[in-house]
Amino acid sequence: MVSDYKQLNEDYLMRIFSRDLMVVKGQGSKVWDENGKEYLDCVAGIAVCSTGHCHPLVVKAICEQAKNLIHISNLYYVPGQGELGKRLVEHTGLTGGRAFFANSGTEANEAAIKLARVRTGKSHFISFQEGFHGRSSGALALTHKVNYRQPFAPLQPECTFVPYGDEEAVKEAIRPDTAAIVLEGVQGEAGVIPSRKGFLTAIREICDDTGCWMIMDEIQTGIGRTGKWFSYEHENILPDVVSMAKGMGSGFPMGAIVAREGLEFLPGEHGGTFNGGPLACAACDATLTVVESVISDVERKGQRFKDAINAENIRQIGLMIGVPVPEGTCTDIQKECQKNGVLVNCASGSIRLVPPLIITDDEINFAAGVLNEALGSR
Ligand SMILES: *Cc1c(COP(=O)(O)O)cnc(C)c1O
Repeated sequence: MVSDYKQLNEDYLMRIFSRDLMVVKGQGSKVWDENGKEYLDCVAGIAVCSTGHCHPLVVKAICEQAKNLIHISNLYYVPGQGELGKRLVEHTGLTGGRAFFANSGTEANEAAIKLARVRTGKSHFISFQEGFHGRSSGALALTHKVNYRQPFAPLQPECTFVPYGDEEAVKEAIRPDTAAIVLEGVQGEAGVIPSRKGFLTAIREICDDTGCWMIMDEIQTGIGRTGKWFSYEHENILPDVVSMAKGMGSGFPMGAIVAREGLEFLPGEHGGTFNGGPLACAACDATLTVVESVISDVERKGQRFKDAINAENIRQIGLMIGVPVPEGTCTDIQKECQKNGVLVNCASGSIRLVPPLIITDDEINFAAGVLNEALGSR
């Protein structure tokens, strides 16, 4: 490892990120820094490494595919793409629906926005305060956070932001030109804020009454993170479009949307050179197999984790946990945990825990112990 990487970062990279740790190896729920120090990883690449780091099945799938074909473009059939489409459509419950692949969460939402615009012929959207949908111009237009949006205004499409959980406000915001309501089942970047019980059902009903689409952003919540394949399953409803990304490739960049039967792009309406490439499909296929084998235990593990943490008003759904901490203390707590061998991160002033879904009970105990110590020292 080059010893002057910090200087090289400083001299040659745009200085967007603030960071102090270089991780060079990962295995299961553990990672190691350049000095060989071990950490239990409750960030998991921001809810991405659901199968843990370098899961043998995922590594094997990527390596074997890399020996055969790394890239071919969508000018040709891509090995594994059709099979993966079938698996994803089946997991969404959108029988008769179809998948479109992307390379990130933002790109998945971008596809959802374009699909809604082109098929409804409408261009106004509704999304929620504190919600996060990505950083490209379109996805950013649906993202509430003023710091992210303001420097880039004006943004398209036009979007009305309403309080999360307030269906009356949604009804009032609907206009004749409203294409879709876009929402998370649990607001992740907001610090793990689950939707009020019955809220998704209420949105579904509003969409049924008005003809607006319901677009579920499952980029953080999807692929087993909340103990179900998608968070909307907690309310037994089906959206019109689902976007997904983070947990689907075990770290190999990939995103996708699945749209219900009858909603699809026409030839030429959307596309992408890298979308749904052979390596991404192989990584995702193996990831789904691993998640299928652990998903039934995710809620139990999440509850165990929550019960082991000494704090009030913890928000927990599956292995997505938000721990409220006194204002201004989050970064210090995060640093204290890191010092003691546990990686956590701060989302909107709360400690967010999104560990690999394969985390063990012993690892949960260790992480909770370190976190409790850091919380106690406040
Ligand atoms: C992370 C995230 C995105 C953006 O995904 P990227 O892969 O970072 O582009 C969009 N929506 C939600 C809910 C997310 O958590």
